[in-house]
Amino acid sequence: MALDLQPLNLPGIDPVRPLLIAGPCSAETEEQVMTTANALHDAGCRIFRAGIWKPRTRPGGFEGNGIAALPWLRRVHEELDMLTATEVATADHVRAALDYGVDILWIGARTAVDPFAVQSVANALEGEDIPVLVKNPVNPEIDLWQGALERVNMAGIRRLGAIHRGFSYYERNIYRNLPMWHIPVELKKREPELPLFCDPSHIGGKRELIAPLCQHAMDLGMDGLIVESHCNPESAWSDAAQQVTPAALRAIVDSLDIVNLSGSE
Ligand code: PEP
Ligand code: MN
Repeated sequence: MALDLQPLNLPGIDPVRPLLIAGPCSAETEEQVMTTANALHDAGCRIFRAGIWKPRTRPGGFEGNGIAALPWLRRVHEELDMLTATEVATADHVRAALDYGVDILWIGARTAVDPFAVQSVANALEGEDIPVLVKNPVNPEIDLWQGALERVNMAGIRRLGAIHRGFSYYERNIYRNLPMWHIPVELKKREPELPLFCDPSHIGGKRELIAPLCQHAMDLGMDGLIVESHCNPESAWSDAAQQVTPAALRAIVDSLDIVNLSGSE
């Protein structure tokens, strides 16, 4: 079943490659959110990401500020005129994010594995017109990824995108999550109109890998990048090793060699 899609049509954002979404793994404090968002704005980024409900592998880590952080995202939108994006994993998350005017929602990799969870998020989205991005499930199962996109689409969300964040595996490797590039490439073959973002932060797991992963994603013709960026990465409350400063992100984006693939055919 082909998805019934419309362009993402993000207000105020030029649809040029790479569409850039950046911000901290987690919204930690209002000050950290505003400092990071200001620096990202100065660096030319107009779409701000921050997790407020954090699915942690083991208990005991920072699990996000929840609803308390939503006014901070609203401040980013109102004061900096940036679009905001956050992860939703339950119907309650969807309703709270919509109440506070979050501009873009995404479904995380740990939620995308569970059709019941995806369906309840999709049901909560019924009747809304908001862009939704769906990360690949942690396991390398393209049908499960496509199925999650279909569930959201069948709820009436037509401004959809997919995020490639790599796949979980057991053995040690340089990557935190194996890229298995053929999987997003196959998804794009199945759904050519579906915007595809790469999340080099969760694939690489370390700062040094962000630039080469971004370049690889661009070489494959991906549409956008979603990158974790923090005003003080070393002291981040989650995913410290993989976050870059807004200035470092700017340098990475400026260094990318973007070839227009359709023009070369
Ligand atoms: C995140 O984007 O911070 C996150 C939790 O990612 P993932 O769902 O890819 O693990
Ligand atoms: Mn993260």
